[in-house]
Amino acid sequence: MDKQLKLLVGGSLVDGGAGSFDVVNPATGKAFAQCPKASEAQLDEAVAAAKAAFPAWAATDAGERGAMLAKLADALEARVAEFASLLTMEQGKPTRQAMGEIIGSTYVLRAFVDKRVEPVVLRDKDGKTVTEHRTPLGVVAAITPWNYPVMMLVQKLAPALVTGNTMVLKPAPTTPLTSLLFAELASEILPAGVFNVICDENDLGGKLTAHPGVAKIAFTGSTATGKKVMASAAAMVKRVTLELGGNDAAIVLDDIDAKAVAKKIYEGAMTNAGQICVAIKRAYVPANMYDAFCEEIARLANEAIVDDGSKQGTTVGPVQNRQQFEKVKELVEDAKLHGKVIAGGEALDRDGYFMPPTIVRDLPDDARLVREEQFGPVLPVLKYDDIDDVIARANASEYGLGGSVWGKDLTRATEVAKKIDTGTVWVNQYLAIDPRIPFRGSKQSGLGTELGDEGMLEYTQAHIVNAVPFEDA
Ligand code: NAD
Repeated sequence: MDKQLKLLVGGSLVDGGAGSFDVVNPATGKAFAQCPKASEAQLDEAVAAAKAAFPAWAATDAGERGAMLAKLADALEARVAEFASLLTMEQGKPTRQAMGEIIGSTYVLRAFVDKRVEPVVLRDKDGKTVTEHRTPLGVVAAITPWNYPVMMLVQKLAPALVTGNTMVLKPAPTTPLTSLLFAELASEILPAGVFNVICDENDLGGKLTAHPGVAKIAFTGSTATGKKVMASAAAMVKRVTLELGGNDAAIVLDDIDAKAVAKKIYEGAMTNAGQICVAIKRAYVPANMYDAFCEEIARLANEAIVDDGSKQGTTVGPVQNRQQFEKVKELVEDAKLHGKVIAGGEALDRDGYFMPPTIVRDLPDDARLVREEQFGPVLPVLKYDDIDDVIARANASEYGLGGSVWGKDLTRATEVAKKIDTGTVWVNQYLAIDPRIPFRGSKQSGLGTELGDEGMLEYTQAHIVNAVPFEDA
């Protein structure tokens, strides 16, 4: 890549104070660009700039702030192809899916343009008025993962900015470039200091969350890192939103066509090479249709075109980074010892981090691939006989992010969905995330809410003003 992208600190696009590092294209395993690496001094500068910009930004009319979000959406839309191409290079996903992420990101920005946080009158009687007001928190530290770098950025930026906060973003070290390209575009639209972007090699996250200038941490990533973020927030009782890992179960009911549902579940498991927090990570299928389901989903997996995401026709790209690739390979090797691989199962013998869609049947529930989050293109298909038993098996997880139930009888499927202990359960659909609908995890999948009005309110502090007329003694 010829263009050298820059950090955004206090309205200026700047080189990294700590040099630069390689960004690897996962389809080749080779570096294709350099990313500026922020120094600790630049982290301090970014937080100071966000803090300095906060009073004026918070005082700006909400309509004006919304209008800037609309401008960001327009600017992103005008450069969809450029963003998508860079996204495929750094993240690996096929071009069509990269376009989908960028276009989806414009929807998210636009969903918050007209949002207002109005005072709520809780009581107004006999001269007594109780009103709940909402004020922005200050500087938000946004920390994002490598699976959907642009979508994760805008999901935090739009509600934070429209409610009057400022932000310092730290993207994941393996996918920083689209965030820097976004920073370039934002530097022409937003006032200096309102949005800052610093990049690191996994060394500044802890310093950012612990920074005394940060009022709230909006984190998306693994449960292991989320626990560190929560501990770090405790020191100053910072506000924190954690969107963490998942191990979503898909429960197939016995009144549905095995072939038709296999296709939907295949897509829910393999989109973005399975690297989605709410990807289908375990499929539970009734015993009487288990063989037919396995046969069809294996056929679909074998039909996949696994290649560089930038090549036309590719349906499954590489795993995003070497570390994750090694983890996925390890889980597949372990699964071979306890179950039967019916599609895929061997990494491709070529450069890059390619694991073909892999389907494993006949695994016991205590197999690592069933218990752990694979976050890759590998799906265990498990058999069940009894509906209450399968609900218990689906719920027997430390995670509680999403899940899905598939059945013709919508009432029955919905009843099953209500018993799944996760933040979201979809019925006869998957990955239906909408910026107007709150999203959150139960158990160790997260804390707090993102998206929807509820998610937006997490970027505010509620103040109750409770007033009565003064009475002379
Ligand atoms: P990760 O936890 O390794 O990294 C996430 C971010 O945290 C990165 O920017 C990283 O640099 C930063 N970080 C690392 N150490 C830190 C520290 N001590 N303090 C603060 N920040 C630190 O996660 P990942 O591997 O990039 O992403 C994959 C994980 O993210 C999966 O578990 C996936 O399920 C989860 N995820 C969840 C959601 C959701 O909405 N719930 C969405 C996408 C991904």
